[in-house]
Amino acid sequence: MDLAIGIVGLPNAGKSTVFTALTRAAAAVAPYPFTTIEPHRGVVPVPDERLAAVARVTHPDRTVPAAVAFVDIAGLVRGASRGEGLGNQFLGQIREVQALAHVVRCFPDPEVPHVEGAVDPLRDIALVETELALADLAVLERERERVRALARTQADPRARARLAALTAAVEALQRGIPIRRLSLDADGAAALHPLRLLTAKPVVYVANVADVDLPDGGPAAEAVRRQASAAGAEAVVLAAKLEAEAAALDDAEAAQLLAAYGLAERGLVRLVQAAYRLLDLVTFFTTASKEVRAWPVPRGTRAPQAAGRIHTDMERGFIRAEVIHWEALVRAGSLRAAHEQGLIRLEGKEYVIQDGDVVQFRFAV
Ligand code: GDP
Repeated sequence: MDLAIGIVGLPNAGKSTVFTALTRAAAAVAPYPFTTIEPHRGVVPVPDERLAAVARVTHPDRTVPAAVAFVDIAGLVRGASRGEGLGNQFLGQIREVQALAHVVRCFPDPEVPHVEGAVDPLRDIALVETELALADLAVLERERERVRALARTQADPRARARLAALTAAVEALQRGIPIRRLSLDADGAAALHPLRLLTAKPVVYVANVADVDLPDGGPAAEAVRRQASAAGAEAVVLAAKLEAEAAALDDAEAAQLLAAYGLAERGLVRLVQAAYRLLDLVTFFTTASKEVRAWPVPRGTRAPQAAGRIHTDMERGFIRAEVIHWEALVRAGSLRAAHEQGLIRLEGKEYVIQDGDVVQFRFAV
């Protein structure tokens, strides 16, 4: 599992509660072994109604959803970029993930102390993002020294372009603009991507609200939503404690509990879907071997590489892909009917997998 979302936020924002709710809900999804691998890392299935729709017309023995990992990352406090709190350990963990779920405390509970004194979601967001930006600045400054030396000796012809990109990145951060907001040319991407900068990672804000403020979340959540749309990020409103309680119940009981708060579904569903969107993946489905399965691949993946996700032999021996959009398959009623009606397309090596494709790969071993 290589796609991971890091859960970040200040202490007592509700990170562990969100993590527990996610992994508890995941553990309830049988028969796939979605269990917590490590205490702070859990694999979570991505709810997708298309999978069930495909299964209804192909009658597999089992369905296997796509999955993403969530990592509970503790240690982000004021001064973390200088080594306060868990400092370097936290910075190392956060570099490994592809996207961030930033839990923002919006619930005012006198029993749960707030590290910064009182509930103020915008201040907390700014504080966390400043720490991430400071950590990035330290990395960028070091890299700039290195590349500057290269540019001076002319040993590397691209060094000047990379130096310019690094300088632009430093200036952006100093003006409070995260790296994810920059549009990078090829030199910029080559200079910045290997650094795995924290503010380059896409973010979904999780407004953790008091259950009495559900379903819309009240003014604190509204502030988070506005901040997200100004920053080009996503926001999800949920009450982590309620989600954790609901996650321990079966579906019918959970639905009843959530309905009492005006919620039509678990907030976690929206969080997982938002996180999945952040990773800019598309999903294709396979129906072979009595199993309907959803596979996530980066947008723009070609058919042979998609086959390679299933098995390396399938990429090496790729001959063609037989493709039908899931809706067309559901309309046809069965794969056989789809074949008979000529709805299945034959696609070659250059075919770019589209979201919602149902694919059967033909390959030679
Ligand atoms: P973390 O430090 O960010 O991981 O925060 P935790 O998830 O450990 O939560 C800190 C405390 O806040 C715990 O006592 C939680 O039960 C409580 N908490 C978390 N979410 C909520 C919530 O939505 N409402 C209320 N009232 N308490 C919460």
